[in-house]
Amino acid sequence: MANHPWPNRANPARLGHFLWRGQRRAMLYSPHMQVRLVKAFTFEAAHWLPTFPEGHKCRRLHGHSFRVEVVVAGAVDPAQGFLIDYGDIKKAISPLYDLLDHRCLNDITGLENPTSEMLARWIFERLSPALPQLAEIIVHETCTSRCEYQGG
Ligand SMILES: [Zn+2]
Repeated sequence: MANHPWPNRANPARLGHFLWRGQRRAMLYSPHMQVRLVKAFTFEAAHWLPTFPEGHKCRRLHGHSFRVEVVVAGAVDPAQGFLIDYGDIKKAISPLYDLLDHRCLNDITGLENPTSEMLARWIFERLSPALPQLAEIIVHETCTSRCEYQGG
């Protein structure tokens, strides 16, 4: 096993070759490595988009399997070795999931015009009080279309 290509106890220096450049730099130079964690959830919902032109397909009532990525960012606690428990992110998401899943989004207060953009902001504003490290919400409306929102 001496020539095994993976890092091992006999040659720990090789570990550096197997880390992303940013990770390696953080490990070598930063006492508080910076990370972004992503927790995803999905929900099914209907919507129609009232600001689209008459005759546009998005104006008709239709549904999506929405996928939302919740991104938190910050410094890893050196003693604990993590930023935040993924389970805490899931707990923060739970009340919003209940409001969104198997609903018509247009019926939800604040989502009368439920574009991906408005949905991303709606989720961001409701999650940020419970998740101070919240950095970004990404709403995937389809497999090929998504909106990324970082607040502001
Ligand atoms: Zn749609």
